[in-house]
Parts: sequence; structure tokens; C-alpha cells
Amino acid sequence: MTYPRKHLLAIEGLEPPHIADLLDLAESYALLNRSGKTQRDLLKGRTLINLFFEDSTRTRTSFELAGKRLGADVINMSVSTSSVNKGETLLDTASTLNAMHCDLLVVRHGQSGAPSLLSQKVDAAVINAGDGTHEHPTQALLDALTIRRHKGRLEGLVVAICGDIAHSRVARSNMHLLTTMGSRVRVVGPPTLIPAEAARLGVEVFHDMKAGLAGADVVMMLRLQRERMSGGMVPSAREFFRFYGLDAEKLAHAKPDSIVMHPGPMNRGVEIDSAIADHPTRSVIGEQVEMGVACRMAVLDMLARGLRRNV
Ligand code: ASP
Repeated sequence: MTYPRKHLLAIEGLEPPHIADLLDLAESYALLNRSGKTQRDLLKGRTLINLFFEDSTRTRTSFELAGKRLGADVINMSVSTSSVNKGETLLDTASTLNAMHCDLLVVRHGQSGAPSLLSQKVDAAVINAGDGTHEHPTQALLDALTIRRHKGRLEGLVVAICGDIAHSRVARSNMHLLTTMGSRVRVVGPPTLIPAEAARLGVEVFHDMKAGLAGADVVMMLRLQRERMSGGMVPSAREFFRFYGLDAEKLAHAKPDSIVMHPGPMNRGVEIDSAIADHPTRSVIGEQVEMGVACRMAVLDMLARGLRRNV
């Protein structure tokens, strides 16, 4: 197994063998989870702290489940940043966590770079559970695992990531992971929601859904992240849906066996039609959640191997 780092802060910088090893390990956890058997003592005696400065449903609960399935002591800390200086909070929190002898620290924060800053101050191995508009590495891993299970590979697939790319840490992590693994990535959305760096990341840019979806193997829809928008970057929800919402008519341009993904939470009727989100064969949104637990188990396992060397 090759994983060269103490922390998982980003997908950017990981090489194909690191990603492939994490996905293979996650696949074995996916099978184990389905069989009902789990390795309950791998993280016995280890403390995992979930430190969430932003709301989360899937990510926080799946890290909690992953930690518990591997036998860790799991503590959830939700922190409100509304009235305090974020920099100060982070540093104070770091010393508290060190005093608690936390081994694995899962961090979500509204500011890009916060998990990286914490990783320089805490003794624990840090996992980025989403930082601002920067990265959400475990989401990209679970997306890749879901795609690989359906398509058998990542290399050569056409993946269309659609909607609010500019504010999406999910899109950014996916662009890094999928291009590193040889997929052909397209981003599709209005010019105001496509970041300038898209071209540098080696992805193709489309402003028209039908053209962007033509021949796609995978269609990944994203939420409009209004909380991160500074002004009127998009028209009304209804107009957005007309041009960029995924419905049967637009999906017909993708390959007939293409799969539809969404990281959640979904805005039904804004970026995706309910009939597509709940489609029995095309939508793999439920499986993404299932693979989230397996991927987080794999990441905790991999990072704990590094910790064991330090014991
Ligand atoms: N849950 C994902 C994230 O935390 C996507 C979203 O919020 O739209 O980035």
C-alpha cells in the first residue's frame, strides 16, 4: 500500500498509485460492509474527533460510522464560528485537541486552507472533510469508487460535472482526481459559475448542457451554493433549471448507459429533476452515500497505519 503522507488534505498532488490503492482498500471495505462483517478492532484505543465548523449530514455521520466500525472512540464536536475570530478559534482548538491526545482529526471549515493550518498545529493525522471552495477529498474518492464499480475503470471515461463549479470543493477535488486517473473531464455551466482555473486543470469547458452532456459516461450534478455567492451570479431557480437543470430531455444526450451522480444535499427542481434523482437505473446517488462509508474507512485505516509507525 502506498500512501506517502501523514494527512489527507487534498487530492491535488496525489499520484495514480496512491489513489488506486485507496480505492482498492475502499472496495474491500464496501464488500465487508455489505457482508455485515467489519474489522472492529483496527482503530481500538484510537481517538477520532469530528470537528465541524460547517453543517454536514452525510460526511459527518459517515466518518462517525467509519470510525466506529473500525473500533475507534469517536467524538463529535460542532463549533459555531459566528461570533469568534476564526484564526484564534482554530489555534485554541488545536491546543485543546493535543491535550486530548486525538489521533485522527476530521475537519470541515468554511475557510479554504483551515484543515491545512490545523495540521501544522496538532499532533493528530488530519483529514479534510471540506474546506471552503478548496477541496473535499473523501467526496472525490467515493465518487471515483462509485464510478469504477459501474464502469469498471476511470481511464478514458467522459465525465461531465455540471452546475456551480466555481463554488464547489467537490468539483475541484473531482477535477484533480479524475484527470489524474485519465478520465476526460468536462465542466458545464454558465460562465459566471465556471472558475478561471478550469482550463489550467485540463478540463473542457461547456456553457450548453446538451453539448456538454453529448456522449458522457457520467453526469455529475452540483448544488447551487448560494451561501458562497457574492451577488447575482445566477438567474432565478426556475430559469437555472431550464438551462442547466438535469431532466430526461437533457440526459438523453449522454450515453444511454450513463450514470447520474450528486454529492448532496440536492435542490430538487433547481439542478436536478426528481424523476432523474430517483431514477431506478440511472441514478447512483444512494450508492455514493454507501461508498462514502467505505472510502472513509479506507482513509482512516491508511492514515492509522502511519500512526502505528509513530507509536
Ligand atoms: N456536501 C458537499 C459539500 O460539502 C456539496 C454541497 O454542499 O453542495 O461540499
